[in-house]
Parts: sequence; C-alpha cells; structure tokens
Amino acid sequence: MIQLTDIHKTYKVGKNSVQALKGVSLSVKRGEIFGVIGFSGAGKSTLLRTVNLLEKPTSGKVIVNGVDLLQLSERELRSSRKKIGMIFQHFNLLHSCNVYDNVAEILRMNKVSKQDIKRKVDGLLTLVGLQDKAGEYPSQLSGGQKQRVGIARALAMDPELLLCDEATSALDPHTTESILELLLDINEKLGLTIMLITHEMDVIKKICDRVAVMEQGEIIEQGSVLDMFSKPQATTTKNFIRTIFDDAIPNTMLDRFVVGSPDSKVVRISFRGDAALNPVLHSLANRFSVVTNVLSGSMITVKGVPLGMMLLHISGEEETIMQAIGYLEQAVHHVEVKQDHGGVKS
Ligand code: ADP
Repeated sequence: MIQLTDIHKTYKVGKNSVQALKGVSLSVKRGEIFGVIGFSGAGKSTLLRTVNLLEKPTSGKVIVNGVDLLQLSERELRSSRKKIGMIFQHFNLLHSCNVYDNVAEILRMNKVSKQDIKRKVDGLLTLVGLQDKAGEYPSQLSGGQKQRVGIARALAMDPELLLCDEATSALDPHTTESILELLLDINEKLGLTIMLITHEMDVIKKICDRVAVMEQGEIIEQGSVLDMFSKPQATTTKNFIRTIFDDAIPNTMLDRFVVGSPDSKVVRISFRGDAALNPVLHSLANRFSVVTNVLSGSMITVKGVPLGMMLLHISGEEETIMQAIGYLEQAVHHVEVKQDHGGVKS
C-alpha cells in the first residue's frame, strides 16, 4: 500500500539546515496498522507527511497504492490525495461549522449531491458514535468527540489509507482507549490501511501489527509488534518497551539472588501467554540440576495476544545452566541471556 524508498528530507532554516530524514525506507501492507514510534524530533511527523506529500522529500521515492506520487501533476496529486485521509493531534476541525457540516464540507467541495451527502454523513456519524451530535459545534464537544469528528471527516471520501498524526496524544487514557478501539474497528470493518505516529508504546501495543522505531531521522528497528516486545534490539527500542514491560531486576531480588553469585545467569524469557508456561518451569527443574528463581514477571496483551515476560535467575554448574538455557530456547518464544547482572538494572 505504501512504499517509501530512501527518503531524505532537509529543512533549510536561514543559513542552517536540519536533516529530518536520512534515507528512510519502509513498506506498509494493505489492511495493516503500521506504527512509527520515536521521541520528539525523531522525524516521525515529517515521515508521515511525506506519504501524502504534505512534505515533499528532498530525495527518494513515494509509492502509494501503486502510484509514484512524485511523478504526478498538481491536479493528479489532488485526486490521489482524496484516497488518503488524515487525522491530527489537535483535530483540525472547522470551528464555525457544526459536526454535520464539518464532515459534509469535503463532499460539497467534491460536488457530491445533497442527497448523497446526507446519506454519507449520517452513516459516518453513526460509525463514529456521534449520530446525536450532528447539530453541535466543536466547542461543545469533548476531546474524544472532536477526534471522532476528525475521523469521520477523514473517512468522507472513502480513503483506502488513513494517516494518524499523534491522534491520541491530546487525550486522557480512557478516551485514548476508545479512539484506538474505533480505529481498530474501522480498520477491520472498512479494510482501511492505517499508518500512525506516536511517542507512546501503549498505542503501538494496542492496535499495531508492525512498528518502526525512529531516531534522529532514521529507522533503527522495524518488525512485528510481538517480536519487538519479545526481542527488542536497539537501546531506544528497549527503553520504549520498558515503559510497559519493565525488565529491570527489582533491588530486593538483586541483593538476594544475583549479587555474590557470579556463576549464575539472569535470563529474560518471553512467552505467548496462551501457551502454558508451568510445564516448562517444571521440566526445567526436573531435567536439569539447576536452581531457578523468578526475579520478576509480567503479562501484557499485544493486539489481543497475551505475551508474558519473566526474568529468571538460574544457578548451578555452568555447563548445566547452558543446557537449561538451550531447553528454554526450544520451549518459549524468545530467550535473552543478560550479559552482566548489573547491566540489567535500570
Ligand atoms: P517528530 O515528529 O518525531 O517530533 P519532526 O518530523 O517534527 O519530528 O521533526 C524532525 C526534525 O526536523 C526536528 O529537528 C525538527 O525541528 C525539524 N523540522 C520539522 N519541521 C520543520 C520545518 N518546517 N522547518 C524546519 N525544521 C523542521
């Protein structure tokens, strides 16, 4: 659906220049929800805006739905953009228009008949749960309701792709949850492809299929969300994961088991929560003469799939520990041996 190849973007500010994107390539499949996460200034917004050419890259290729957007004339680009909806952190509503007119405006601009506009707007307001708010103005709505209007507006021209620019960052956690559920719902019901940017791992965890992590204008890691949670590679990715899945050894456990036990190993295991873990730990104890202590553990749900993480402290003969770790590698989703005990503590 989206193919970005070697995208560079340099902003000129007076005599200075800022390299916001440094050779970014990614592809988003039709029907998936793709998230881009990074700290402020990483280049996420610039990247998202190159997908509909609100931001023209300095170099690179932007293919959306099989069309090379940089080769289009202004008129052709305007027409292609109709199939790309966008929602924003601060909603971008027309404050002097009521909810109905906010959604109807783009249809009127595209010369849709009055009757079709009514049918379309009524349907969209029902889809986003605002059927009884058609006559209200943005100032009378809550943040969540405003974003629902934003979503209805973005869907008015039946786009195949929805770009979400920090769409839940201005909302409280409860409202964020309901907007994410709505996005998931329209992704499933309408088969809409969604690309979103965020600085919150929680958003990625709840609705994304795949994710790219950005830092200083580059993608430093990308893959399935489940893999990112189970085996993060880059330090920044690990830091984002820790906001949800804290794998630091609790101090009490560090003192009790790890310090003064140099021949032991600390192992981080990730396992699908719907697979039984108990038999694994039981077999570990039965098959190998090692002593295993659970230092910490937690369970999350990644887009509906339960995922568990546990820190184990394994002590015994070095060779037996390695055999036990070999067994774990067969039995669970991912195993990471912490290189040094101190390094685990954040
Ligand atoms: P993010 O969305 O991850 O916060 P941005 O894409 O907004 O990152 O910004 C990436 C870099 O580009 C930052 O250093 C930012 O200051 C710079 N930048 C973004 N937009 C402009 C602009 N219009 N003019 C100059 N510099 C910009």
